[in-house]
Amino acid sequence: MQLELETKDLVQKDKDHLWHAMYRYNEKASPTIATRGEGAWFFDTNGDKYMDGVSGLWCLNLGHGRKEIADAAYEQMVNLSYFPLTMSHVPAIELSAKISELLQGSYTTFFSNSGSEANETAFKIARQYHIQNGNPGKFKFISRYRAYHGSTLGAMSATAQANRRMKYDPAAPGFLHVPPPYSYRSPFGEDVPDSDRVAAELIDQVINWEGADSVAGVIMEPFISGGGVIIPSKEYLRRVAEICKKHDVLLIIDEVVSGFGRTGKMFGFMHSEGVQPDIVTMAKGLTSGYLPLGATAVSSKIYAKFKENGTHNHLRHISTYGGHPASCAVALKNIEIIENERIVDRVAELSESILSELYDLIALDKVGEVRGVGFLYGIELVEDKKSKAPASEELMGSIIAACKKKGLIIGRNGDTVPGYNNVLIIAPPLSSTEDDLRFVV
Ligand code: PLP
Repeated sequence: MQLELETKDLVQKDKDHLWHAMYRYNEKASPTIATRGEGAWFFDTNGDKYMDGVSGLWCLNLGHGRKEIADAAYEQMVNLSYFPLTMSHVPAIELSAKISELLQGSYTTFFSNSGSEANETAFKIARQYHIQNGNPGKFKFISRYRAYHGSTLGAMSATAQANRRMKYDPAAPGFLHVPPPYSYRSPFGEDVPDSDRVAAELIDQVINWEGADSVAGVIMEPFISGGGVIIPSKEYLRRVAEICKKHDVLLIIDEVVSGFGRTGKMFGFMHSEGVQPDIVTMAKGLTSGYLPLGATAVSSKIYAKFKENGTHNHLRHISTYGGHPASCAVALKNIEIIENERIVDRVAELSESILSELYDLIALDKVGEVRGVGFLYGIELVEDKKSKAPASEELMGSIIAACKKKGLIIGRNGDTVPGYNNVLIIAPPLSSTEDDLRFVV
């Protein structure tokens, strides 16, 4: 009785005072208020238990309640509670070196607090690099339709999802968009057999049309995640990397979702052998969501231009909390666990042995395509397979609600193209047990 009263009170306060992300206000609906988590599961104020099939917002990679991570934060907070990176501190130094090692190159990292900021930082670094490299006209960025790169103005400008930008446009100038390598709904027509290749070649064309001396960078996720789990051929990214190199355009890989094991490799770009990005942005899985942290890692070629003497040659960019000592300590512990528990190999193995059963859903009338890599699956729903008309709001909503009723939280793609929010998304914690994964399936 007491609990019921407390819950009622909480719901009322929530409705009156808490502005939820992406939430369509609904007087009647009660929010799910979590009180406790355990591994891949959480409990709400009604005592109901749910498997988190989307890892919070694709970030809770090691699940709830890893005491070692909490201890790392605690120890850091009592030892050195805050310190700015205008000077230096041990966890940030160690983490930057670790990131360079994991990226299998020589990288220098600027820390921020989120994926959006990591991308904003990448754009500023890219523009300044070209100026200091003698090409001051290179300022434009190319990204793909359906991509999501964050919520702040620059990151939103790289984001090419019409409904997300509606009411906030005009975006920042200098951001161009090209079609994604999306063979199921190829923008080049069904009769083009190798649409991924055509999508890559189009980037070459666009750079030529715009003038290579005006283009600073191409930003992309190795696998479009929130835009509907779009999985190109391995050759696609390799070709994009070649095109970027040819035009002295920086390849910026957004590993905010795909980094740290989500796709069955430490980083998503590593599925395309031989690709070495100029800039890699990270957040989410970097700390498994235990504390906020964003990171922008740049190759030594780029960093070299910031080491040259000159009054304004340094990066004039700062973030009070970026690289917070506790966040860096948490990230280091998170990475240590990922390595010690062979999480990345485990994701690849369990994706193959259990989650791949999701492909069987293709037998259902309303399933147009199932796409998966590691612990990242998208199930594209249609009204009928032939027309590929996207599934209705009602069907999408009813499936998500039915899953929730059975104790499973799943996601769907964001406001990509109006009318096309028809991909169910499954991205469970990388530490999910085999039973958890079977439950999802
Ligand atoms: N990049 C990608 C691919 C994302 O999915 C997101 C968030 O979902 C971001 C960037 C932005 O990250 P954040 O929400 O931490 O700003």
